Amino acid sequence: MSKTITHWLDNKAFAGNSSTTAPVTNPATGEVTGQVALASVEDARTVIDAAVKAFPAWRDTSLAKRTAILFNFRELLNARKKELAEIITSEHGKVLSDALGEVTRGQEVVEFACGIPHLLKGGFTENASTKVDVYSIRQPLGPVGVISPFNFPAMVPMWFFPIAIATGNTVVLKPSEKDPSASLWLAQLWAEAGLPPGVFNVLQGDKTAVDELLTNKAIKSVSFVGSTPIAEYVYRTGTANGKRVQALGGAKNHAVILPDADLDLAADAMVNAGFGSAGERCMAISACVAVGPIADDLVAKIAERARTIKTGDGTKDADMGPLVTKAHRDKVASYIDAGEADGAKIVVDGRNVQAEGASDGFWLGPTLIDHVKPEMSIYTDEIFGPVLSVLRVESYDEALELVNSNPYGNGTAIFTNDGGAARRFQNEVEVGMVGINVPIPVPMAYYSFGGWKASLFGDTHAHGTEGVHFFTRGKAVTSRWLDPSHGGIELGFPQNK
Ligand code: NAD
Repeated sequence: MSKTITHWLDNKAFAGNSSTTAPVTNPATGEVTGQVALASVEDARTVIDAAVKAFPAWRDTSLAKRTAILFNFRELLNARKKELAEIITSEHGKVLSDALGEVTRGQEVVEFACGIPHLLKGGFTENASTKVDVYSIRQPLGPVGVISPFNFPAMVPMWFFPIAIATGNTVVLKPSEKDPSASLWLAQLWAEAGLPPGVFNVLQGDKTAVDELLTNKAIKSVSFVGSTPIAEYVYRTGTANGKRVQALGGAKNHAVILPDADLDLAADAMVNAGFGSAGERCMAISACVAVGPIADDLVAKIAERARTIKTGDGTKDADMGPLVTKAHRDKVASYIDAGEADGAKIVVDGRNVQAEGASDGFWLGPTLIDHVKPEMSIYTDEIFGPVLSVLRVESYDEALELVNSNPYGNGTAIFTNDGGAARRFQNEVEVGMVGINVPIPVPMAYYSFGGWKASLFGDTHAHGTEGVHFFTRGKAVTSRWLDPSHGGIELGFPQNK
């Protein structure tokens, strides 16, 4: 049965006035399972208005009360996260264990935000001048916007909203229209946790909803995650409208395998990082850079493992699920066609995979392509599917040059047993998140997540202390209490005494 996926404001569903909707599908069956509302400008303003009205009271709610609600939310999420994982799998397609992993990584940010009283502590300087004290405080921005991509419908919003809420802001979340149901489940959970109406709101929609968030004066900041062209657009438009913006973009992540690496460990890592979540992760490895004489052995080991991957329905016993939509599946397959036409060697071909699932599912099996050259579209473009390219180079310097000349800079990894080489790489590579014998180096919640170059527009990464900084403004107070004799009239610039 097809359901209607609405907006959410004041702790209840809001249908909106627009009659425009978009279909939501189950990628494992191809069935349309719902229709998501696409907001009109008027709908968007109604949702934003709820966040505006809730802000003054939420800003003034004590840290003790705010953290009590955050702890409630964490407990409810922890107890019921399987429900959320099932919703994710039904609209995104990733296997259940992976969906549960996504929720758990999001939960870690909630846990980080539970410590907000400590994170918000300011500095205090007694007697900066005689009987004058100076101190700093951090205050919330106001209503903030969060715009998220399809590939992590729970985790990516949770990179932002726990910290935004904990620091006293109110939130309007604009989820991806491809898998919007997770957002409503999370909204319901906040209501059950005791969050006052209007503090967490959901605005379903497309460009119309995004543009209203970017231009509406009431919205004070925008946290965006998605593809690079849209991230750049969001950054330019949001900042031109006076907002604080962090816009995380696309990726092309390289793993450099040095000749002294443990090739079995590296091959396992390439399969996990290349094909996990069907390659629809911004931290997926899509370019494997084999250095020196190991390439043939490495490719053989990756191929052997890739052939064992079971592609199928994520709710059953599969290692890898379908792609998110038919259009995306076909686009990824067309990159494999192009790679083949450009002369790369298809070692494992996922185009005709025998998937364990319905015939109308959006299936594409793991694909391994060797002898890829930097000018081929299979290398230059972000493919966002289960396609791992192998590029062969002669030296560490050549590998580093390849990684550093790529326009993206989200994540990277090096596999080696040489500590000196690893240390050199972490120092020299122009990428925001680096793994050493770790293929998907997603930072913990108490560090910050973010790439460099075309993978991030703005200067602030997600969560960790950078997240707390993003969602607050600093204020410095200079105060004198015990010495009311201020020295009479003096027009000179205040001097410290
Ligand atoms: P997308 O850019 O198509 O969509 C992201 C959001 O922008 C969605 O909410 C969508 O509704 C909205 N949007 C789409 N087109 C728009 C337009 N023309 N104007 C205004 N808003 C628009 O991205 P996606 O396909 O949902 O997600 C995959 C992309 O996200 C990949 O490029 C991936 O690398 C990237 N991603 C990056 C990170 C990171 O941390 N850097 C994390 C996850 C995903």
